Amino acid sequence: MSKLAINGGTPVRKDPLPVYRTIGEEEKRAVMEVMDSGNLSEFLGTWSPKFFGGPKVQAFEAAWAKHFGVKHTVSVNSNTSGLNAAVGAAGVGPGDEVIVSPYSMSASAACAIVNNAVPVFADIDEETFNISAKTIAPLITARTKAIVVVDIFGHPADFVPIMELAKKHNLIVIEDAAQAPGATYQNRFAGTLAHIGVFSLNYHKTIHTGEGGVVVTNDAALAERIQLIRNHAEVVVQGKGVENIVNMVGQNYRMTEIEAAIGIEQLKKLPALMAKRQKNAEYLTKHLKDIPGLISPSVREDSTHGFYVYPMRYIRKENAPMRQALAAAIRAEGIPVGEGYVEPIYLQPLYQRRIALGDKGAPFTKPYYDGEVKYDRGICPVTERMHFEEVLIGDYCHANLEEKDMDDICAAYKKVFSQLETLKA
Ligand SMILES: *Cc1c(COP(=O)(O)O)cnc(C)c1O
Repeated sequence: MSKLAINGGTPVRKDPLPVYRTIGEEEKRAVMEVMDSGNLSEFLGTWSPKFFGGPKVQAFEAAWAKHFGVKHTVSVNSNTSGLNAAVGAAGVGPGDEVIVSPYSMSASAACAIVNNAVPVFADIDEETFNISAKTIAPLITARTKAIVVVDIFGHPADFVPIMELAKKHNLIVIEDAAQAPGATYQNRFAGTLAHIGVFSLNYHKTIHTGEGGVVVTNDAALAERIQLIRNHAEVVVQGKGVENIVNMVGQNYRMTEIEAAIGIEQLKKLPALMAKRQKNAEYLTKHLKDIPGLISPSVREDSTHGFYVYPMRYIRKENAPMRQALAAAIRAEGIPVGEGYVEPIYLQPLYQRRIALGDKGAPFTKPYYDGEVKYDRGICPVTERMHFEEVLIGDYCHANLEEKDMDDICAAYKKVFSQLETLKA
């Protein structure tokens, strides 16, 4: 085999991989229709017909509910807003704990903080990178009120045991399906597997509206509370005759008509975009699975993976190069690759210094919170091993990538792994 590019050889690929692009004529037309109408948003923060937004927002929500087979859909301006509203709707507040994943985007844990509650981090499973009933159970205390479970990288978490556990302890489960729209678990869509599901429509995600999000639930009372938090709850509760005003401190999490119109078109494209991702991932796994030291992503038998990214694990032999040197060699072959994902959330300054809301230690201090949460390095050893040592992430599955791109990716990995001994340790 030819010399590695990092050692002075010729790279496998010269041109950058194609970028992901899903916005086309359909979205353009939909936006222009809204522009011509002159109404870019029709929300009113009072109890009136306009409390639920304009025609595009309502049509988008109806289409989303139909596609995912859920009773209630509430569009929002981001997944972050959706998570904040979901945790608030669950009645979480000062003194409460919310069990979350440390291996996710920061908002999956910050949604507890925003509601003045304390995130408690459960470790992940090394096969799927998701938290599980096994890692959640030992963390449940009398203070636990909710669990935020992330379908990380697009693989649904194992929800049946999680929901059983939650039922036993009377906990609300929120599914962060930002990376998993279209993935399935036991023939049900990711995002519909818990009491509340939250999707992201930011521009990195499988389908997007620039910025945006969607919250789904089959529970009418939770849906109402999420709608209220989205839209100035405190001035609406009286007119609407809402009894339970816990956390009915409203935000403005409303989506505009433009984003909703784009969302309607993007949703139509989701099945094809997902099928292409799954096809690309299957091709990669077929060609990468026999490389010693590289573990391609596993898909649980009862699930389909959304392949937001293609997560691999590098199992390093003694004296073999560290992941950093390996990744540098792959990049030198013209194939981008990420090392780890995001730093375990509890290592952020917010958790290390316990400074979040104001300067008096809320939400981590008495009189409301009397627990003793730990955020030390080492609390989630699998997460830390995945992030700091093993995980390699490639944006290798999206729908603008073709088989010839897959072939270059596979060739680069095969080439580098066949000459590991030539890399510095
Ligand atoms: C993208 C993402 C979010 C945040 O989504 P926004 O719409 O940008 O707020 C939250 N959780 C996960 C797992 C994500 O991937």
